[in-house]
Amino acid sequence: MRKSSFNGESSFQYKRGELFCEDTSISQIADEIGTPLYLYSNRALIDNYERLKGAFKRVSPLICYSLKANDNLTLCRILAHLGAGADIVSGGELYKALLAGFSPKRIVFAGVGKTRKEMELALREDIFMFNIESRGELELLENLSSELHRKTRVSLRINPDIDPDTHPYVRTGLKQNKFGLQMEKAEELYLKLRDSKNISPKGIHFHLGSQITRIDPYLKCVDKMAEFISHLRKEGVDLEYMDMGGGFGIGYRGKESPLDIEELASRIAPLIREHELKLIMEPGRYLTGNAGIMVTQILYRKRGKERQFLIVDAGMNDLIRPALYGAYHEIKKLRQPSKTSPMEVIDLVGPVCESTDFFAKDRNLPRSAQGEYLALMDTGAYGFSMASSYNARPLPPEVLVKGEKWTLIRRREVYRDLVRTEAISLEEKNVIPSYTIPFVKLQGTGNDFIVVDNRANLIKDPGALAKKVCSRKEDVGADGLLLLEESQKAYFKMRIFNPDGSEAEMCGNGARCIAQFAYLKDIAGRRCTIETLGGTIRCQIQGKKVKIGMEKPRDLRLNLRLSLKGEIYEGHYLNTGVPHFILFASRVEEVALEELAPLIRRHPKFRPQGTNVDFVQVTKGNTLKVRTYERGVEDETLACGTGAVASALVGSLTCGVSSPVRVRMKGGDLFIYFERGKDNNFSQVFLEGEARVAFEGKISEEAENV
Ligand code: PLP
Repeated sequence: MRKSSFNGESSFQYKRGELFCEDTSISQIADEIGTPLYLYSNRALIDNYERLKGAFKRVSPLICYSLKANDNLTLCRILAHLGAGADIVSGGELYKALLAGFSPKRIVFAGVGKTRKEMELALREDIFMFNIESRGELELLENLSSELHRKTRVSLRINPDIDPDTHPYVRTGLKQNKFGLQMEKAEELYLKLRDSKNISPKGIHFHLGSQITRIDPYLKCVDKMAEFISHLRKEGVDLEYMDMGGGFGIGYRGKESPLDIEELASRIAPLIREHELKLIMEPGRYLTGNAGIMVTQILYRKRGKERQFLIVDAGMNDLIRPALYGAYHEIKKLRQPSKTSPMEVIDLVGPVCESTDFFAKDRNLPRSAQGEYLALMDTGAYGFSMASSYNARPLPPEVLVKGEKWTLIRRREVYRDLVRTEAISLEEKNVIPSYTIPFVKLQGTGNDFIVVDNRANLIKDPGALAKKVCSRKEDVGADGLLLLEESQKAYFKMRIFNPDGSEAEMCGNGARCIAQFAYLKDIAGRRCTIETLGGTIRCQIQGKKVKIGMEKPRDLRLNLRLSLKGEIYEGHYLNTGVPHFILFASRVEEVALEELAPLIRRHPKFRPQGTNVDFVQVTKGNTLKVRTYERGVEDETLACGTGAVASALVGSLTCGVSSPVRVRMKGGDLFIYFERGKDNNFSQVFLEGEARVAFEGKISEEAENV
């Protein structure tokens, strides 16, 4: 029995009571990025490819991975790197295949409805082979090849009229199917092509269907095709290649036998050699099917009149195979059931408003509770690639596991993605007037911000708006206005406007607040990147806590002496996204901040941009007490993220504090993580603290017009 395997062993195994993919706990990933999600094992993918290649090694076939099974760029790239070619059926798949790194010399192009544009694109890339399915298509290809002065390699796809004994919807080689050419028609075309200037008939192609688990349909077909090739050779058409398509079946049910690939190879290879042919194959499901699973969470248990339903957070839009073909997928709990777990018969259904939205019917499963995670096994092929956003449900993320490591290879879609390509027509735009701008007020360790989603460029003059709405006595009141805008580099861009209307480069607390906002509004996920004027930063959200990776600090100047009102003050300068001047004091409460800070802020040494000012007291352990005067606010604020970072780093250089440093500010505690290298160099600088919503509201028409 062959399941997803490495040396015969499945890549999905229970370990310590939990389902693992390779050496990674799957529920940990689900906890971190949410469900539903698709997850793939790198090891299973490689193993599947190597096994197929090994089985057919006597004839060294060109293995063209069928992108339709799963066209994720990372998975494709892994296969391209292993030496695979690509089987494509559209211009989009051509685009993705090239992007993934498949050589055009290893790309074959099938499909009954290739458009002129798709053919042209493929011709310009000089792909290896066109698999032609009709006379009309051949004529168009010949004309285009002539226009582009090409001699194009072609195989004709034959409809062999052989029953592969698989699901009716995935049979493609029967005479009632739309695919391929009848043999008589094919012969006629081959003979015509002998004199073609622009088409070179190179091979023969067939594809019987998908999920075929018996070898005899293949043997029958290869025999038939070999005979046909011999006949054509006598007629002066010397074909070199036989493309046997894909369709190799895998074992979806524990007790079901997959196609015996070694047996198939041992029977086909001699025929290929005997007829002096080169073999091409187009496996899809075989390579990715058992390398992937879909993870979903039980939302509710619901007892119907006759059935027990488990309603999960994945729907037929995420995995359509059960709805489309009545396909069977094994279901595993991520938490290993004990041998004595009670069993129950359930229907596993999704939230989509269709009765076909189910994953299993009358399935006997160990009893599962609300909130538990389930894995739908063997969903690596025709899972994500057939997913849609039906019911306006954003597409799920995809994860690749390699041993103990996992990587997000496709982020979860957010609501914004649902409308990315839409535009409300100009005529309809003004039908419903929108005079108000929604905002959320958030606070991050004492800094409070008004956050507005400005991706539609609602705000004409952000500086003026900031001046108005940040005013504590007259309006909402805040330390700053944060605008979330589109970015080409990161998930989104943050712009910060101070209450005086000026624009700041960066603010650590602001970044944490806007990351929380983006997560809550489903603009970004738990991990995201933010473009700021001070550089791009990384964020991670865990409940109310948000951790952000800071830019590498720069412009360190230790022991700077300033003369203020006839006295000398010594401090340290560091830019942590914005400039900070750090002064140590034995008791920060007693420092005359109101008097000193404005003078330092505008001191000639820091012209033209000025500096923020931080008074720092080292208390016990790795704890600092910090008071910050912020430029732009022109006052002491309850907390400042970049100030906390600057204080901790300078504290590490001058007072021996080490990571993680707790920075106590009036507004609460921040934690600074960093690595200190040689020559006062810092790396891996992170700032962590709370960021939470205070309230939501709408900015009125009057404010919008400022
Ligand atoms: N080649 C062609 C022409 C196909 O139409 C298909 C699937 O429909 C495949 C290859 C891949 O099939 P499978 O994923 O079953 O291997």
